[in-house]
Amino acid sequence: MFIDYAEIHVQAGNGGDGAVSFHREKYVAAGGPDGGDGGRGGDIVFRVDPSLSTLADFRYRRKYAAARGENGRGNRCAGKSAPPLVVLVPRGTVVRDAATGRLMADLSDDGDVVIAKGGRGGWGNTHFATPTRQTPRFAKSGTPGEAFDLKLELKLLADVGLVGFPNVGKSTLVSVSSEAKPEIANYHFTTLSPVLGVVRMGEGNSFVMADIPGLIEGAWQGVGLGHRFLRHVERCRMLVHIVDVSGSEGRDPKEDFRIINEELRKFNPELAERPMIVAGNKCDLCGDEAVEDFRRFVEAQGYAFFPMMAAIRHGVDPLLNKIAEMLSTLPPVERFEPEPAPLPDADQVERGKVEIRKEDGVYFVEGEWLLKLVERLDPDDYESIQYFDLVLERTGVIEALRAAGIEEGDTVSIYDVEFNFVN
Ligand code: GDP
Ligand code: MG
Repeated sequence: MFIDYAEIHVQAGNGGDGAVSFHREKYVAAGGPDGGDGGRGGDIVFRVDPSLSTLADFRYRRKYAAARGENGRGNRCAGKSAPPLVVLVPRGTVVRDAATGRLMADLSDDGDVVIAKGGRGGWGNTHFATPTRQTPRFAKSGTPGEAFDLKLELKLLADVGLVGFPNVGKSTLVSVSSEAKPEIANYHFTTLSPVLGVVRMGEGNSFVMADIPGLIEGAWQGVGLGHRFLRHVERCRMLVHIVDVSGSEGRDPKEDFRIINEELRKFNPELAERPMIVAGNKCDLCGDEAVEDFRRFVEAQGYAFFPMMAAIRHGVDPLLNKIAEMLSTLPPVERFEPEPAPLPDADQVERGKVEIRKEDGVYFVEGEWLLKLVERLDPDDYESIQYFDLVLERTGVIEALRAAGIEEGDTVSIYDVEFNFVN
């Protein structure tokens, strides 16, 4: 069964806790603090598995949790960080945060994408020793790992999408132009899932063709299965509209053409603008006059027209050549840009105003919403740090620090993040 939508829950691992411990040795009276830091929690990482073609694996497994980081121990032993949990998805999977609809990732290319960050390990008491505080009896807990309800949507990556009523010969065209072997039969809805075929044009030139089944009148509103498949048309660089010119099932080809175009437009107005050419199939079942009449009809609307008999591959090569020629001038398959996590809104910041406390020359800043921000910070990633700075600036934390009398070079401590203040 072709599954192209799934809802799952992911939970990254919590960071391990820092340890409170003191060095003990025979005959040594008062050892110093030696509690190690907690390890990082495991990230939830998404990766493309080229052998997958549907989201079916997610039907029976909905929860994905990465392990937590180990706690720190005495003797300055840091807890082990947990490995990432890798979730394999088919190419073209779009990941959204179910709560906000935010697009988090488009798994169309190779390379891992971190969807939920593991929590950071808390500092052990070793970190908190200062000349005036030689026996710190506290350590920090690890921060929680991120958790999300996710919506996964497969949006196939194809260069060209075949659209048209059932039984017009879409699957036949895919089967005679590629190695894909979709089912072909003389009844409606034989094809229950989009089939991708790679069309090889020689000299390393090839393109991916998708047979989009199930389009009928009302598909855009959810009639039949077509609605589910329409989303796979959205990313196609161009469309080939296949029409049964013979009207062999008592249908009117012009009316069919109009109805399908209308379905595409209603589903997504952008689809009406997508470059499209028209293939008139089953030319063997009608006279030349009917074919020419239909040709005039579509050419008058500005579409190139290709008559064919897909079943015997007649007229298929000129069509494929035209597709290859058009593709060479069209932009690549669309990738969806991830949307950045929203900045905390003014409301949230106001409600959870920060508290600033000065101790031993260190400015401690705390606030519930800040904890969330700290959890997102990746101290090894430049962009992440820039984002962190930006939020501190915009939300007035920097201003508040200035008001508290901070000076260049003073230490700021926000949960487990510490940095020197720069004006
Ligand atoms: P789809 O539903 O659009 O995928 O249509 P199929 O490719 O499954 O074809 C439907 C029927 O039309 C099958 O019985 C095919 O053998 C037949 N067919 C395909 N191309 C031609 C053609 O050029 N001429 C005739 N007479 N029949 C064709
Ligand atoms: Mg078919």
